[in-house]
Amino acid sequence: MAKGDERRLLIAGGGLAGCLAALAMAHRRPDVPLLIVEEGQSFGGNHIWSFFDADVAAEDRWLIEPLIGARWRGYYVAFPQHRKKFAHGYNSMPSELLDRHVRETLGSDRYRLGAKIVAVREDELVLEGGERLKGAGAIDARGAANLSLLDLGWQKFVGREYRFAEPHGVDLPVIMDATVDQSEGYRFVYNLPFSDEHMLVEDTYYSDTPDLDLPELGARIEAYLQKRRWNPAEMEREEKGVLPVAMGGDFAAFWRMGGARVAKLGLRGGFFHPTTGYSLPDAVCCAALLTRQKDLSGAALHDLFQREGARLWNERRFYRTLNKMLFRAAEPAERYRVLERFYRLDPALIARFYAGQSTMFDKLRILSGKPPVPIGRAVKALRS
Ligand SMILES: Cc1cc2nc3c(=O)[nH]c(=O)nc-3n(C[C@H](O)[C@H](O)[C@H](O)COP(=O)(O)OP(=O)(O)OC[C@H]3O[C@@H](n4cnc5c(N)ncnc54)[C@H](O)[C@@H]3O)c2cc1C
Repeated sequence: MAKGDERRLLIAGGGLAGCLAALAMAHRRPDVPLLIVEEGQSFGGNHIWSFFDADVAAEDRWLIEPLIGARWRGYYVAFPQHRKKFAHGYNSMPSELLDRHVRETLGSDRYRLGAKIVAVREDELVLEGGERLKGAGAIDARGAANLSLLDLGWQKFVGREYRFAEPHGVDLPVIMDATVDQSEGYRFVYNLPFSDEHMLVEDTYYSDTPDLDLPELGARIEAYLQKRRWNPAEMEREEKGVLPVAMGGDFAAFWRMGGARVAKLGLRGGFFHPTTGYSLPDAVCCAALLTRQKDLSGAALHDLFQREGARLWNERRFYRTLNKMLFRAAEPAERYRVLERFYRLDPALIARFYAGQSTMFDKLRILSGKPPVPIGRAVKALRS
């Protein structure tokens, strides 16, 4: 063991949460030796992560600011009976930028790429082939693991980034175009216009099962392009995702899985918004929390993130209840009405919803009025 290794912080997994934690520590706690280990050949995989301005607190913005590849001053939503433009900032972060920034900030002595981890312990990572890396404490940020102890629905999508021969005419992100066919459940198309000729088009739907029919979603995107008369000159990139939408579950038991005393971050630690499955806001908060932690032993890190995960899980019960209403009370073809109604509410309430910071008044406002689901089924869903 090299000198100083016993003091270092080990981060398993160089995706969103692991990289943000490493970057935050490198900036705010440069005295702490750290090593982040990733099995891929680059950090962050193949992603574009997006977030609203309100999702990240002003005091944490410094962490994410250098990673923003595109920003817009507003966005649209479109439903069969309701279209609206919102004047809230929206940003996206490509994984290439995260990769470059992590390499430059950490320098090659603080990261390992192409190294598969087979076990994460309180203060140790075990690599494929048997190599053991020791530290003061380790954090497991290897992405979603076994989610079977949570009661989940799924948000599934395929996105394609296109170059168009002619301007597509979309000036701001369309975060939900739900004017598409709704017969199988809530479905929408998401457009991120990076320039007049360059755009991500993503077909997304909420579903009871996690399987993803890639050819079907690809065909839907093609049909959408045709309907809009957008002629792509080239498809540059494709991404896919199956994100958890939480309705309930045994969070304490979920946390114990994959290492009862091991600290966990990102999806592995249950740090995601119950309704959107998005984890960027939590990843920023957790990275900031880590920089304020004095004791970086494995046991202390475990307690820190277990406590934070449990706190958020309890605080977010309301979102899980709404998810139940969407999945279990509304008929599949009518689910879009729940969202259509939601987007008629105050824009500031909507911003707080996405940031996971709904107030008591917001919650009452969301639930008040005639719900767009049958009452009997709503009561049954809530009791389940
Ligand atoms: C295509 C896509 C788009 C998304 N868009 C958004 C968005 O716009 N906004 C948002 O907030 N959320 C978004 N999400 C949801 C969520 O934020 C992401 O999934 C996010 O990347 C999760 O962060 P994470 O760090 O937990 O896991 P990941 O980012 O998946 O990171 C886990 C890392 O661990 C590595 N790893 C896994 N196993 C091992 C091993 N055995 N050894 C070594 N390394 C290992 C992986 O290679 C990976 O790099 C998106 C998800 C997907 C899939």
